[in-house]
Amino acid sequence: MATIGINIATGSLQQAEIIAGIDLGTTNSLVAVIHPDTREPVVLKEFDGSALVPSVIHFGAGDQISVGEQAREYLVKEPQQTIFSVKRLMGKSYQDVKDHASFFTYKVIDDNTDSLVKVQAGDKFYSPVELSSFILKELKTRAEHILKTPVNKAVITVPAYFNDAQRQATRDAGKLAGLDVLRIVNEPTAASLAYGLGMRKDEAKTVAVFDLGGGTFDISVLRIAGGIFEVLSTNGDTYLGGDDFDRAILRHWTGATDETAAERFSSKSELQDFRLKAEEAKKHLSFNDYFETEIGGKKFSLDKSTFESLAAPLVEKTVDCCKAALSDAGLGIDEIDEVIMVGGSTRIPLVKQTVGKFFNKKVNDTLNPDEVVALGAAVQADILAGNNKDFLLLDITPLSLGIETMGGLMDVLIPRNSKIPSGAGRQYTTQKDGQSSIRISVYQGERDLVRDNRKLAEFNLTGIPGMPAGFPKVEISFLVNADGILVVKAKELRSGVQQHIEVKPQYGLTDEQVEQMLFDSITHPKEDMAVRSITEARTEATIMLDTTERFITANAAYLEPAEIAETRSYMDKLVQLIQTGTKDEVQAGIEKLNEISKPYAERLMDQAIGKAMKGKRIE
Ligand code: AMP
Repeated sequence: MATIGINIATGSLQQAEIIAGIDLGTTNSLVAVIHPDTREPVVLKEFDGSALVPSVIHFGAGDQISVGEQAREYLVKEPQQTIFSVKRLMGKSYQDVKDHASFFTYKVIDDNTDSLVKVQAGDKFYSPVELSSFILKELKTRAEHILKTPVNKAVITVPAYFNDAQRQATRDAGKLAGLDVLRIVNEPTAASLAYGLGMRKDEAKTVAVFDLGGGTFDISVLRIAGGIFEVLSTNGDTYLGGDDFDRAILRHWTGATDETAAERFSSKSELQDFRLKAEEAKKHLSFNDYFETEIGGKKFSLDKSTFESLAAPLVEKTVDCCKAALSDAGLGIDEIDEVIMVGGSTRIPLVKQTVGKFFNKKVNDTLNPDEVVALGAAVQADILAGNNKDFLLLDITPLSLGIETMGGLMDVLIPRNSKIPSGAGRQYTTQKDGQSSIRISVYQGERDLVRDNRKLAEFNLTGIPGMPAGFPKVEISFLVNADGILVVKAKELRSGVQQHIEVKPQYGLTDEQVEQMLFDSITHPKEDMAVRSITEARTEATIMLDTTERFITANAAYLEPAEIAETRSYMDKLVQLIQTGTKDEVQAGIEKLNEISKPYAERLMDQAIGKAMKGKRIE
C-alpha cells in the first residue's frame, strides 16, 4: 500500500490503488475517486476549486495541443483548429453525422463511406478516438497532479444508447491515454449508484434518469434488481440542451436567430459576448428573480417569469421524450420509484418542477448534477477494486474476444470485463471478386495486432457463391454462455451459408498469464495504436485504389481521357504513399484521390461498386 497526498479537505491520505471514475462528457469531463478515509466518492478539484474540464482540444502552432479551459478560448478565435463535441463523433461514419455537418466549425472529412469519421486540424488527421484520448490524458495528468500518485486504471461512463462501436471507441481512447479501462459504465447506471441505488442485493427499483446537459438530453429508464442494472428504454434529443436556453434568451434580447446572427452582429466576438451574457442570465435566474446587464453600452434585463416562458417549449420537448421512454419501457408513471436529475441544466427550477410534476414525485437533486455521473463511476470503480464485497459482481470475461481483420488487426467483438452471458455480432465482407471462402480466426487479448494476442480457434466459412468483392455480407456472432464457453457463428446473409464452432476461451491460461497479457496491453498502447492507425490507413488506401481501378475500368466509356489520366496520377501517388508515407500522408492521399474522383464518381456511381466500398474485409 502506498501513501499518497491528496489536496481535498483532509490532506494526506492512504489509498491501496487508485481507480479513477471518469465522466467523459460532450461539453465537460471530470474525474472522481473514492476518498480513502470517508469511503465516499469525491470529485477531484484543482486548487482554484474547478473540477470540470471543458471537452475541447486546441491545435496550436508547432504541434502544441491544449485541452480544457485554455482550449475553449480558441473556439471563437480559431474555430478550424479547435475541436469540441468529439463525443458526438465517437464510433460514427461521415454518413452518420452529415445531417449535422454545419454544427461542427472544424473540418470533418467527407469521404462518402461507412468508415469511421476523421477530423482535420492543420495538415493532420485525427480520429475521434485520438481526440478523446487527448482529453483523457489531460484528466489523467490532472488526477495524478492532485493525488500525487500515478493513475493507470479507470472506469469511463458512456450514454446508455451508445452502441458497440461507440463503446469500443471510448475504450480505445482510454487505452491510448495510457489507462487500463476496467469497465465502460452507462451514465444513468453511474448516476443511480451515486445516489446509492442498487447497492443492496435485495433492492428492486425502477428508476428514471433525466439528464439535461449543455448540448444533449437523455432520459433512461432502468430496472435495478439483485445488483443488476438493466436499461429498459432510452430516449432524448442529441441536439437539445442548455445552449438552446441561451439561444432563446439571445433571440429575446436581439431578435437574432442562428441564421441571422452573422448579419446582426458586427463581429464574432460581439456575438460571443451576447452568448456569454445570455448564459449568465440563465444561471442567475436559477437562484434569483431578476437579471440585468450591459452589453456594448446598452442595458439588457430579464425576469424569471419571462425566462420561463422562453424556456417552456424546450422543457415540454423533454417531457415528450419522457413519455416516449415510459411507453417504450411498457411502464406507467406510477411504476417509476425514483427520478434522478443529471446535468447542469437541471438546476433550472422550471425543469425540476416540470419533471417532478410529470412523474408525480419529488426528484433526486441533492447531489451536484454536474458531478453525479463521475461520482457514480468512482463508486463502480471501488466495487471493481473489490472494496465493496457485499456488492454482487457479475461474472465477467477476463480478456477481450475478437477476430482477425485485414492487416492482422484485432477486431474486438466482446470487450474484456463484459458480463457473462454476453453476445455480439458484426458484419464483414470479402476482399476479392468471386471469393468462395473466408478464414475466421478467433483471438483473445488486448493488443491491437492479433500476432500479440492468443489464437483460440480458426475455421473456414466455405461455399459462398461467387460475388464481386465487398458484396457478400458475412455476419459473425460471438456468444459467451453462462459457462464461459464461446460459440462463434458465421453466416453469409445473401446465400444463407453458415458454420459454427465452440471454443473455451480461458483454456490453458493461468491467472498470471491473463495478468501478463493485460500488463502488455497497458505498456504498449502508443505503439499498438500507431501500428493500428497506419495499418488502417494503408488498408483504406488499398481498398480505395482497388475500387477506383475497378470504377474507371468499368466506366471508361463514360469518362473523359483527361479525367482518367488525372485519376491515375493520383493513384500512383497513393501507391507510393502506402509504401513510404506516414499515417497522415496516406490519409491526405486518400482525401486527394477522393476529392478529384468525387465529381464524376457521383455522376456515374454504380450501385454495386458503391456497396463494394463499404464494410470491413477479412483476409
Ligand atoms: P453539463 O453538460 O452537464 O456540464 O451542463 C452544462 C450546462 O448546464 C450548460 O448549458 C450550463 O449553462 C448549464 N448550467 C450550469 N449551471 C446552471 C444553472 N445554475 N442554471 C441553469 N443552467 C445551468
